[in-house]
Amino acid sequence: MAKPKVASDWMAGCAGCHMSLLDIDERILQIVEAVDIRATPITDLKEPDEEGVDVGILEGAVNLTTNEEVAHRMRKRCKILVALGDCAVFGGVVAMRNFYKMQDALRRAYVETESTDSEGKIPSDPELGRPTQVRALKDVVPVDVHIPGCPPDPDVIFYALSELAAGRIPEIKDERLHWH
Ligand code: SF4
Repeated sequence: MAKPKVASDWMAGCAGCHMSLLDIDERILQIVEAVDIRATPITDLKEPDEEGVDVGILEGAVNLTTNEEVAHRMRKRCKILVALGDCAVFGGVVAMRNFYKMQDALRRAYVETESTDSEGKIPSDPELGRPTQVRALKDVVPVDVHIPGCPPDPDVIFYALSELAAGRIPEIKDERLHWH
């Protein structure tokens, strides 16, 4: 039987969820044995196969139009979509921006930060995408599995990946969650 194909990507987050995935340590060898890892932000191939993958994993909230594109691309190309981490599950710390006016948040981020010199300005490059209201992944595309946590516990990630590798939908119940 062919190994399930897995791809991951990230949107507005801190990369901590992917770091937590690496924190499953030597158990990653079991995962690599069981699945075909096609693309991730931390490997050479960055985008899921156009022909599709079995499992897509997304970290981060939807904060920019470029994040929306990543969310729609992964949803279109995967059978099972996993929201990895609090930012993807409900917006997480990124959603704190929703308490502020967009221009105030952009000015604070690009002009007023203590490390910004007098040249600081709000970027307007279309490559960056336009800011939107911060949303959870499920508010943009249908999600099949939610793995909460900031970052999610490596044991929970390992459990979820093992279940997905075996062709099952993981049940992330309260007793599996370790809140930090
Ligand atoms: Fe980072 Fe936490 Fe968001 Fe994951 S859930 S991307 S660890 S802030």
